[in-house]
Amino acid sequence: MYKTKAYSAASATSPLASDTIARRDPTEHDVQIEILFCGVCHSDLHMVRGEWGGTVYPIVPGHEIVGRVTKVGSAVTKFKSDDLVGVGCMVDSDGTCRHCKDGLEQFCPNLTLTYNSPDKHMEGVTYGGYSDSIVVDERFVLRIPNNLDLAGVAPLLCAGITTYSPLRHWGVTEGKKVGVVGLGGLGHMGVKIAHALGAHVVVFTTSPGKTEDALRLGADEVVVSRNADEMQKHTGSFDFILDTVSADHDINAYLNLLARDGNITLVGAPPKPLEVAAFSLIMGRRSFSGSNIGGIAETQEMLDFCGEHNITADVEVIPIQKVNEAYERLLKSDVKYRFSIDMASLKD
Ligand code: NAP
Ligand code: ZN
Repeated sequence: MYKTKAYSAASATSPLASDTIARRDPTEHDVQIEILFCGVCHSDLHMVRGEWGGTVYPIVPGHEIVGRVTKVGSAVTKFKSDDLVGVGCMVDSDGTCRHCKDGLEQFCPNLTLTYNSPDKHMEGVTYGGYSDSIVVDERFVLRIPNNLDLAGVAPLLCAGITTYSPLRHWGVTEGKKVGVVGLGGLGHMGVKIAHALGAHVVVFTTSPGKTEDALRLGADEVVVSRNADEMQKHTGSFDFILDTVSADHDINAYLNLLARDGNITLVGAPPKPLEVAAFSLIMGRRSFSGSNIGGIAETQEMLDFCGEHNITADVEVIPIQKVNEAYERLLKSDVKYRFSIDMASLKD
């Protein structure tokens, strides 16, 4: 066991503050990583503030981790010291269930999340990436393409894979009309990836001030969703819509924009249930589904895809001392388009 610096929250109403936590010494299958950048996902905020229930305090959030390998266990074959690596939302799974065998570890009933899951190696729960260092089984460590900016790579580990996976699953390719609802961390990655896949991309935003950015990020059209006339123009026309909204909103307004057999996939996770009108689905045989991050092999595929297409997140790099302020800004949809914590600031 060794000690490392971190930022933790002591309760749902406490700010994140400097702390010292224990990590296990790397076992034979482990990789020890010095964390360089960690993205700030809206899920961190939901969890820190106990909005989904089940949060164990103190919590150290962070699951968009990029860093450098400092040590590897004796049985590690995929990584060596100094390699650039990433860790996303998962750090372990049983490896034997149907989902793990299918490469869909995110659905494993014995999944260990990067933070706030029972820790298999130590007492208590796992601690995430708002920290100096982390120790992870090599099966859950990803290789980072060496042509990408590291601060912008960190968000790929959650926002990137969470949007890439459903876009691929629902067959988004050239010629498809694809909507992305909400231009935040996930949304802006969805736009970049859908554009790179060749789709015609329409962004739905509640923030008129984001229009120019949306076009620059790869959108072909932008709709201000509070404008009913603009929405109406797209009725019955979408093959696929990715909904990344973090708060309560009218899902029927988007279901009605789907073409026959169109699908809307929810990746946003608002704490309150959404109301679905039967006729929004019945008419046009439309479907409404969800998606949870992506498997490890698909995460590596996404990172390689981003390397080839030169895709990273648009980030505002912050020192960790500004993380509470960043959370307040997230709640106001005031982020362009992901906060990425420079972990060197933890040494200050
Ligand atoms: P974010 O950066 O805060 O972006 C959310 C965006 O939603 C905002 O930028 C805003 O976009 C829009 N929005 C916010 N409040 C709204 C409201 N009341 N009505 C309509 N639109 C609103 O958050 P994020 O990090 O991208 O995460 C988004 C959601 O996905 C969160 O709930 C998070 O927990 C969830 N998530 C799920 C997974 C998964 O595996 N399924 C993975 C990661 C995150 P505009 O300003 O453009 O309207
Ligand atoms: Zn996340």
